[in-house]
Amino acid sequence: MANEKVGVVIVGAGASGSVFAAVLAKAGKKVVVLESGPDWQMSDLISSDIWGRRVKTAGAPFLLEGKNPFGYSYQSGWGVGGAALHYFANFPRLLPNDFKVKSEHNRAHDWPISYEDVAPFYDKVAQDIGVSGDAKAEEIWRPAGQPYPMPPMKTFRHGDVWLKGFEAVGIRMVPAAVGMNSTEFKGRPACIYDGWCHVGCPIGALANPNITYLAEARKAGAEVRPLSTVTRVLTNQPGTKITGVEYYDQKKERQVQEASVVVLAAWAAQNPRILLNSATDKHPNGLVNSNGLVGKYMMAHFNSGTWAMFDEDVQNHMGTTGAQYMSYDRYSKTSHKGAFGSSFITAGSALKTSDLGGFANARLDLFGPDLQLFMKRGARGLTRFGTFGEAMPNIENRVELASDKDEFGMPLGRIIHTYDQDAIAVWNANFDEGLKIAKATGAKEVWSARGNMPTIHLMGGTIMGTSTENSVVNSYGQTHQVPNLYIAGPGIFATAGASNPTYTIFALSLRGAEQLASNWSTVAG
Ligand SMILES: Cc1cc2nc3c(=O)[nH]c(=O)nc-3n(C[C@H](O)[C@H](O)[C@H](O)COP(=O)(O)OP(=O)(O)OC[C@H]3O[C@@H](n4cnc5c(N)ncnc54)[C@H](O)[C@@H]3O)c2cc1C
Ligand code: SF4
Repeated sequence: MANEKVGVVIVGAGASGSVFAAVLAKAGKKVVVLESGPDWQMSDLISSDIWGRRVKTAGAPFLLEGKNPFGYSYQSGWGVGGAALHYFANFPRLLPNDFKVKSEHNRAHDWPISYEDVAPFYDKVAQDIGVSGDAKAEEIWRPAGQPYPMPPMKTFRHGDVWLKGFEAVGIRMVPAAVGMNSTEFKGRPACIYDGWCHVGCPIGALANPNITYLAEARKAGAEVRPLSTVTRVLTNQPGTKITGVEYYDQKKERQVQEASVVVLAAWAAQNPRILLNSATDKHPNGLVNSNGLVGKYMMAHFNSGTWAMFDEDVQNHMGTTGAQYMSYDRYSKTSHKGAFGSSFITAGSALKTSDLGGFANARLDLFGPDLQLFMKRGARGLTRFGTFGEAMPNIENRVELASDKDEFGMPLGRIIHTYDQDAIAVWNANFDEGLKIAKATGAKEVWSARGNMPTIHLMGGTIMGTSTENSVVNSYGQTHQVPNLYIAGPGIFATAGASNPTYTIFALSLRGAEQLASNWSTVAG
């Protein structure tokens, strides 16, 4: 029967939800995954910027406010696989310094765990879904771990041309760690370097959840119910236990799915929206929000991009939308004078015409014959590298409910987001250094990709900590206030670091799911 009580309901079939589904289904639990978008198949992934739009974000919009409104549409997902169906799969880790910002600098928060707690799960995820890279080379910046299961990806001229510039300013670059196949892996083929990862890899060389953890979950008996939008988490009368969720099915009819445990894995901005909409007389400010911290401390990365035009053919159509090279040489929180926060450098992603970092964004000031000439030269000689920066958590950056409602009568979410002076200073310092690097490459022309300060990788909103005093969840994603409710994804990060978050999302989800499986009877009751 469709809505018979199950062991666990997972809300969202993306990066984090797929891990919980796999671990719990393999542990013999009855798992139902409710996913608001469609059940995408590999045949839906078409290598075209226009067709690729279909798999990008959809559903009720967020209202965007603050001085740096959050550009979420590019990075959130919709449908099985979530945003990770079509991510760039750059897989850097956080570093040990990310876990101790408060104790080392008296800023922001400490995580309740250290790098050593997460490290074994980084290694495990790499073996589970396939990571290519050179772990030994990375160990100049982090404690040693296991080697990656595949060697680094191939490099191309548009990545290699930057190396001279990095060397000139003393920055060491190593092969980028990516969730892509440099060789065949577990029956999935090696990458063919045609650069269409951002609309989903049709051959399966990109580690998207549908062909990794979610496939394992389905094989172990998990049921995935697409076009099912969760609007509320339900509690028992005293408000001490979760009893299930309310959702709207594909006919837009209200349903209740009862479960012993609920895992919210609907992405950093959606999870607080659902919690705030789940208020009852016992939880008047929203579920697990007696401390007012649900939706608070939203964080983003920003990127300082530097472009260069070469006379030679740099093969910019080749490669992947992930990076060829990466560096943590500016990862210390105090790398740049007068600016606080880490920076993480990547170089060498394939260029497509549109989308983030695409050709169309390279020179917005050009029109007519000048644009035509630029495009002619750029088709062969254009390349770009980028430096991500870290913003510190600020309680004012938040998700809250608006008065407007979506088609299910659920209030829209509003994301309010403003960068502080440190973030702006880190952004500027990385532009300055970017130009120095570019000039030292011998490129014909170099320029900064300055526009509105970007907001990339939304994190926070349900942060982890030691108790209800300072956080919403513990280090496993289990809420402090209602133990049979878990939250997964970048929302539980206590600070943002500067490295792309999804490898850490997978690792933390694996750690949380394993803890839940081994404490099942205590948690599920
Ligand atoms: C183009 C692009 C490039 C990226 N590149 C990188 C990269 O190189 N490296 C990196 O680390 N990260 C990258 N990311 C980010 C990465 O994909 C996300 O960090 C990651 O997918 C977040 O995981 P999640 O589980 O929180 O959310 P998602 O993977 O987005 O999954 C959330 C799921 O929940 C569903 N959902 C939402 N609301 C509801 C609801 N009410 N009921 C039911 N279901 C719901 C959504 O439809 C979605 O499928 C990229 C993202 C994009 C789009
Ligand atoms: S570049 Fe590689 S990973 Fe990306 S879409 Fe092509 S084959 Fe897939």
